[in-house]
Amino acid sequence: MEVGDVYSSRQLDKAEGEAIESVMARSQQTIPDPDEWLKQELKRNILLTSVDAMLNWARRSSLWPVVCFPACCAFEFITTAASRFDISRFGMEIIRASPRQADLMITAGTLTWKMAPQVRRIYDQMPEPKWVIAMGACAISGGIFASSYSVVPGYNRIIPVDVYVPGCPPRPEALLYGIRMLHQKIAKMSLITEGK
Ligand code: SF4
Repeated sequence: MEVGDVYSSRQLDKAEGEAIESVMARSQQTIPDPDEWLKQELKRNILLTSVDAMLNWARRSSLWPVVCFPACCAFEFITTAASRFDISRFGMEIIRASPRQADLMITAGTLTWKMAPQVRRIYDQMPEPKWVIAMGACAISGGIFASSYSVVPGYNRIIPVDVYVPGCPPRPEALLYGIRMLHQKIAKMSLITEGK
């Protein structure tokens, strides 16, 4: 319709109706929820788990070994800690000189009865929870020195052992496998039964 046209009342009604229809059509979209961002935040940032699972994950991902390397298996442990095998992948590269800052004893070597009280003292000074890996035949049973008058036939005579890694000496891969076994053991721990 051009300006200056004379409209019938019917035409005016039609034009008005069209304008109203147009406004109604534009007003039908869903109004965005002002709290939509919160849903996205919850989706992205909240993870539900149990206290046990969280605690066990933290414990097994940051085991700190204490120095206890009395014989030749120690060199395999040193290789395990070096770049080729690299135990820092498991958060274990910090070898503690103080038992008070360690929670894992890797017994890499032959133990004599003369050294036994010192090893027991080191173990006692480690805070709870703590774990022991017996590395090598000597640590497990005294190895080739088992019948010697001076050798302890296994660390488990003086401290509780969690994982045994056989071999004379075990290769770094075997020690890494033993560490993975210990991780699985820690993953099954529960705060409810701990200390009972
Ligand atoms: S198990 Fe073999 S390599 Fe290890 S400390 Fe004993 S003799 Fe040495």
